[in-house]
Amino acid sequence: MSNFIPLQELLSVPDWYKDGECQKHDQDLFFPDRGGSTVKAKAICNSCKVKEVCLEFAVERKERFGIWGGKSERERRAIRKEQRLQTES
Ligand code: SF4
Repeated sequence: MSNFIPLQELLSVPDWYKDGECQKHDQDLFFPDRGGSTVKAKAICNSCKVKEVCLEFAVERKERFGIWGGKSERERRAIRKEQRLQTES
């Protein structure tokens, strides 16, 4: 019996996640070690049909780890900052 827990279940992500291109690839690509390459994961995200909703989900959830919607945590933080600035002005 396998101890494998699907990432979707582990992270409690919504149904659309099962349609993500990442489901066809090694999930470690999307959660690189610090300083690891994100190029391949971002390229996969860029061909994903749920990219927009994925990014919105990760930004709203303040997801701290991994590549979601083609963006790293740092890039998502910048998006949140930009959104804050827009609502303040
Ligand atoms: S945008 Fe990237 S992380 Fe999100 S579902 Fe698609 S492939 Fe997966």
